[in-house]
Amino acid sequence: MVSVEVLSVGRELLIGKTVNTNAHWIGGRLAKMGSMIGRMTTVTDSLKEISSALNEILARRPDFVVILGGLGPTPDDMTLEGVALALGRKLALNAEAIEMIREHYRAVWKGEVQITPSRRKMARLPEGATPLPNNVGTAPGVRLKKDRTVIFCLPGVPKEMKEIFRSSIEQEMKKKIGTLYTATVILSLEKIFESTLAPILKKMIKMYPGAYLKSHPKGIREGVSRIELDIVVSSEAMKQARSLADEIASYAEREIKHEGGLVASRKEK
Ligand code: ATP
Ligand code: MG
Repeated sequence: MVSVEVLSVGRELLIGKTVNTNAHWIGGRLAKMGSMIGRMTTVTDSLKEISSALNEILARRPDFVVILGGLGPTPDDMTLEGVALALGRKLALNAEAIEMIREHYRAVWKGEVQITPSRRKMARLPEGATPLPNNVGTAPGVRLKKDRTVIFCLPGVPKEMKEIFRSSIEQEMKKKIGTLYTATVILSLEKIFESTLAPILKKMIKMYPGAYLKSHPKGIREGVSRIELDIVVSSEAMKQARSLADEIASYAEREIKHEGGLVASRKEK
């Protein structure tokens, strides 16, 4: 499986100010593409934290690293400096990036603006990096490579992050992942406790090692325990994914009923 890690940068994510919806969004996006994020790390705006976290990630040799946030003009935005430090590369003014930034201000201000040091900062990329166009904001995204790993840096503003991900990253990741289809069945269970479900799941995990089985306890309502059971199967053929997910769900239903549980609903996605 293609391995992907996410490194989120920002003090606001660690002090309860901002919910990391960016990492959540990318996780969902990758799951749809048939892959998943192996690890997510969040660090504060500090050169030491950014560079050491990136080096730890690179030591695991993932296929992709997506770094989120800290690309803007303010002094707390130091992601690119942190990346350069981790890779032992210099930051250099990138002509293509400066043109993208100039173009952005032209479109917004309908005229020429001065490229101040703060604006130039967003175009100072680690050596060997390519800027990725940002059609909804100022700071370009960044793509670079370290050995086998492709590193992407994206702005923290969710709208910008999503736009650059869709237009400049998704295709490359999809190509690497290949065509994988995912079939999901969600069973809503009642009158069964997770502790009763556990041995059933244990057996199923052994029988179907490629499937992802996850129970979500939904609490007790009107004296009845409720659980949602997700069954997720990925395959190169949609039909195969669907039929295996259905087979597993039917098996689960039988076992759950045998234990006195109730399958209140079965949804396919
Ligand atoms: P900018 O050019 O706007 O400065 P940036 O790349 O420097 O972009 P940050 O300064 O890290 O991004 O974040 C800008 C804003 O985006 C934050 O104020 C926050 O509201 C939001 N944001 C940052 N990171 C995340 C995240 N991981 N999830 C959701 N929102 C985020
Ligand atoms: Mg910023």
